[in-house]
Amino acid sequence: MINLYGLEITKLEQEMLSRNQKKFRATQLYSWIYGKNAQNFDDMSDISKSFIEELKRDFCLSIPKIYRKQESKDGTIKLLLELEDGNKIETALMPYNYGNAICVTSQVGCNMGCSFCASGLLKKKRNLEVHELVGQVLVMNNLLKEKNQRVSHIVVMGTGEPFDNYDNVLDFIRIMNHPKALAIGARHITVSTCGLIEGIKKYAHEGLQTNLAISLHAPNDELRNKIMRINKFYPLDKVMEAVRYYEKEANRRVTFEYIMLKGVNDSIEHAKQLVELIRGTLAYVNLIPYNEVDEMEYKRSSDESTHNFMSYLLKHGVNTTVRKEFGKDIDAACGQLRAKEQKHE
Ligand code: SAH
Repeated sequence: MINLYGLEITKLEQEMLSRNQKKFRATQLYSWIYGKNAQNFDDMSDISKSFIEELKRDFCLSIPKIYRKQESKDGTIKLLLELEDGNKIETALMPYNYGNAICVTSQVGCNMGCSFCASGLLKKKRNLEVHELVGQVLVMNNLLKEKNQRVSHIVVMGTGEPFDNYDNVLDFIRIMNHPKALAIGARHITVSTCGLIEGIKKYAHEGLQTNLAISLHAPNDELRNKIMRINKFYPLDKVMEAVRYYEKEANRRVTFEYIMLKGVNDSIEHAKQLVELIRGTLAYVNLIPYNEVDEMEYKRSSDESTHNFMSYLLKHGVNTTVRKEFGKDIDAACGQLRAKEQKHE
């Protein structure tokens, strides 16, 4: 059985051609399964009976099951989803005033080994399939339907490293962006990487107007080596070179994410180093209030340090914002719900 939600349009077209169908069947199917949200093949009234039978025989339309659901007072929804093989992943929805942003998981577990992150508590088991990436958005859309809403923004910032699952993440983005599928604008889609430089360079040539975020979190190699193991493989000069390459080739600016960790990376000296490091790029900096994790010693920076850090960056010409927080009353920190659940099993 092929899960229809796993096929990017050119692959679905190939699939149709190989079955002696016309190429346009692919967009026709997209209109049914995404545009009209058809969940079974019998509803597809403009497709011949015999081809419907063939579709029913060879394809399925299945999405992950909701295993656990937490809803915050502010409207944030956090789901623990169960995949067909029993693995569980987290997906979150953040209701911004401009729309509903979903935070999508790209792998079961993560091997990047960032010392502050709860997702890395569970090692990578496998990459998510395209239909499991798409499925996260469809599950959320089904929940939002009751409120007459839908997912309008996507951030690939859940568990996992998207560029360690490059091809599937790319197919996912193309499906989300396709006008006959969910038609989510490229500028409403953000991919976040811890700095896999081959991925950044390749992504520059995908012809997408999506946003790219780089998890920086430290302005020098000594500190970044300590908190992000990946820096030992891809040190800051390589990351910065890849960022400059991306800016030039894709003609898009990146966002640097910088978690504010109390007493670790949040001094004015760090801010000064950060300004030096990113000088000459067009990048934005997004300061992230740290979500404390039970198993970890890191603490979030005070509002005052965050404010001073931001003021320093702004004064030196760096566009800076502080990330809005959601779901404070639920396990909103990345990977926390899943890590807790796994402990009880
Ligand atoms: N692997 C990718 C995407 C997943 S992590 C990456 O590293 O970018 C998404 C973002 O959440 C990263 O910036 C990550 O550093 C950040 N993050 C991880 N744990 C966090 C926590 N406890 N509080 C706040 N942000 C966190």
